[in-house]
Amino acid sequence: MNRKVGFKTLGCRLNQFETDALASKFVGLGYDVVEGSQGTDVFIVNTCTVTNQSDQKSRYVVNNALNHGHSGMLIITGCMANHHKEKLEQRYPNAYVVGNEQKSAIPQLVEAHFNKEIVPSNQNSGGVFSYAPAAETFHTRSMIKIQDGCDNYCTFCIIPKVRGRAVSRPVNEILDNIRQVVGFGYKEVVITGVNISRYNHNGVSFSGLLKQIVDIDLDFRIRISSIEPDSFDEQFFELLKHPKITPHLHLCLQSGSESVLLKMRRMYTYKLYKRVVARLREMDPLFNVTTDIIVGFPEESETDFQQSLDAIKELQFGHVHTFKYSKREDTRAARMTNVVPGKEKTRRSELLRKEAFDAKLNYRQQFVGKQQQVLIDTIKENYSKGYGEYYIPVKVMQGLEKNHLYTVRINGIEIEGDEPCLIGELL
Ligand code: SF4
Repeated sequence: MNRKVGFKTLGCRLNQFETDALASKFVGLGYDVVEGSQGTDVFIVNTCTVTNQSDQKSRYVVNNALNHGHSGMLIITGCMANHHKEKLEQRYPNAYVVGNEQKSAIPQLVEAHFNKEIVPSNQNSGGVFSYAPAAETFHTRSMIKIQDGCDNYCTFCIIPKVRGRAVSRPVNEILDNIRQVVGFGYKEVVITGVNISRYNHNGVSFSGLLKQIVDIDLDFRIRISSIEPDSFDEQFFELLKHPKITPHLHLCLQSGSESVLLKMRRMYTYKLYKRVVARLREMDPLFNVTTDIIVGFPEESETDFQQSLDAIKELQFGHVHTFKYSKREDTRAARMTNVVPGKEKTRRSELLRKEAFDAKLNYRQQFVGKQQQVLIDTIKENYSKGYGEYYIPVKVMQGLEKNHLYTVRINGIEIEGDEPCLIGELL
């Protein structure tokens, strides 16, 4: 009987890419791969540490597996493994704590473990780009890692400490990765990294890379994942008009206040951000701009907060991820003294979520009566669901095939929790 490997992934798309690549590698080595720890010989938790809540969630997943009797090999990897390595090793003495730099070599570590070879987890060869293209993954879209690390050092962010300095993957490796996954049957690729707009490999910029990706002579669509708004060039705006590139950007704003952006040491002003959104909406009035906003950053006044609320109204975001500011030791913001009390952060976060929901609903209502090309990723008993090119969930009340694109006419909206989902019918 095959050995079974379970995964639980927290955090960003980069972690998802890395989990998918590892899972695919394990399948190739003859293991069964599942989600979760139940009945597994190896449980791999790919953690996140971007906020205190991410740390808590990551620890919960590990404790939950142990409390439910997981007695096989336990591997804790990802950003929390870099950030709190010693603490984790003390707390979970039987676990392997594997940093991001060694993550790609986890399959070798597991094989060595079962062969009873002693391999200290920090002596794997690894490498941040040493992942083979994933044939079988947990996702319908294939993540493509183009870059890792960040040199920006925003004052609140721990990521440069746990993912290291910015490094870019060679162009040819990226193009080959895309050709292979499209060959495996993927219809959509998601361009992923920590700070992808700063991609630079031997003088090829992000736009230069994107141009080579759209020129691949195969049929697939391209989604650009989270991106910083500070370094768009003309070529990038031109490329966004290409039919292969989907009209959606997750453009991190973080605050609508110029003064808070300065204290965060973001590389743009709100004014510049607005100009970028205006260019996108000139190109396509429905262009989907989604974003992250932090509430309760140290010294954020009521006026600053109001400016974040105003930004949501003004820019009509398709979705806002709201984060309550979370103090990360070893960052500059951790030394700022005028902190916003917890209760006040909660109040601001609730107000912001409400504003964001109204904006999302308004934005999505514009799709009623229009068509979407929906990539189906979920099949339930009486409906199928997926995402259209604008990255909005669309439900069709009939059984369809997973990983197929369908043309759907949108007839209405159904609200599921805080998610207004488009409802449509096949054309
Ligand atoms: S751009 Fe800023 S927020 Fe984003 S990863 Fe880099 S340091 Fe962190």
